[in-house]
Amino acid sequence: MRPVRRGTYGRPVNTDVVVIGGGAVGAAVAYFVKLLDPATKVTVVERDPTYALASTPRASGGIRRLFSLPENIELSNFSIPFFDEFAKTMAVDGVPADIGLKKHGYLFIVPPSDRDLLKRNFDTQQQLGCTVAWLEADELKHRFPSMNVTDLGAAVHSPEDGWLDPHSVLMGFRNKAKSLGAEYVADEVVGLERRGSSVASALLASGERIAAAQFVNAAGAWAKDICAMVDLAVPIEPLRRYEHYFESQEPIEPLPYVKDTARLAFRPEGTGYSGGVPTLDEPRGYNFDVDRTYFDDVVWPALAHRFPQFERTRCTSTMPGLYDQNDFDGNVIIGPVAGIGNFHLLSGFSGHGLMHAPGCGRAMAELLLTGGYRTIDLTRFGWQRLVDGTPLREQGII
Ligand SMILES: Cc1cc2nc3c(=O)[nH]c(=O)nc-3n(C[C@H](O)[C@H](O)[C@H](O)COP(=O)(O)OP(=O)(O)OC[C@H]3O[C@@H](n4cnc5c(N)ncnc54)[C@H](O)[C@@H]3O)c2cc1C
Repeated sequence: MRPVRRGTYGRPVNTDVVVIGGGAVGAAVAYFVKLLDPATKVTVVERDPTYALASTPRASGGIRRLFSLPENIELSNFSIPFFDEFAKTMAVDGVPADIGLKKHGYLFIVPPSDRDLLKRNFDTQQQLGCTVAWLEADELKHRFPSMNVTDLGAAVHSPEDGWLDPHSVLMGFRNKAKSLGAEYVADEVVGLERRGSSVASALLASGERIAAAQFVNAAGAWAKDICAMVDLAVPIEPLRRYEHYFESQEPIEPLPYVKDTARLAFRPEGTGYSGGVPTLDEPRGYNFDVDRTYFDDVVWPALAHRFPQFERTRCTSTMPGLYDQNDFDGNVIIGPVAGIGNFHLLSGFSGHGLMHAPGCGRAMAELLLTGGYRTIDLTRFGWQRLVDGTPLREQGII
């Protein structure tokens, strides 16, 4: 029998699934649960409907198939075609959900020392059906004449990848999930009540209590705080990362999203470029301060080395945001955690959460509704690898 909703302040309010956090990931879970089983009641608890500090609207928007782990490639193989159709699929009342999709490609460039690694990843990508092209340094120079390739060994170009507007993705999932009957509650989860080896209810800052059969922790960079509510320590930490906007005074040919092994990552945006150099050396914490010297000291030299046209570039804005960084192995943790069978984690994306929101949203919905994965087997991304002490890392550019 399905639980009944009661709604009176301070009294139990029942639903089937509580999703904690309504960013792109939580909203995707809500959408897929309602899509796959309209009868399942879904309640998304999001403390800030303006998403002022959420990671999703601060993301760069890159979507790519260039990974080494089959699971990440499969997630992209599901998610990118999903983004192709997003405007239509997420339309509400006939209004399309435009996400500003630009399929201008991705380009991974590596020094000679990383050629073999890049080749292994390239082979895996090809085996999994990705459209990818191997470029030697001279071919790279031919395709992108502005690029300094003197220190490069090779590159992989994926022309069907690109970027999109993250906030529009979030709102598209959110609006569609609501139109399918998902309920959004603007409140903060401040506690979780246990009953034996399960979570029984979520306590909200307003004093409400929501009892449910299943709970999904989709709180992104704040996921560890939710886990702490059930006395669970997780290696997911908030990691500050800047997205800079800058222009070039000299013309450069049209570029794809460019990434290298030193973590320089940037793409065209309007009349300029958007990107940065994320670093794992950053102290963990909820830090939204901006260090104005970072661009000049770290990003600019990397840009000017790769494209001499950036010698005279200026940074006109810097946006700080948080990665939900999984310090165990840099990959998402999905599924039930530490023997609490109805408490599911979906965080730790470490910079890939936007592009994998469709694939992981669907996977989580399958897990909730059927107890297993139906579309992509993400078993290896589960909690067990932490128990076993066996990290599952991306190899090469991350
Ligand atoms: C600068 C930058 C660039 C990035 N570039 C890319 C990229 O190019 N491609 C890509 O795929 N990814 C990128 N990412 C990563 C991506 O932004 C994240 O992986 C993704 O947005 C995570 O989505 P989320 O829904 O899990 O988190 P969020 O969007 O942060 O949503 C979590 C939500 O949980 C809510 N919440 C937290 N605690 C509570 C609570 N107690 N109660 C209720 N609600 C709560 C928060 O308010 C928040 O809205 C980038 C990130 C940054 C910072």
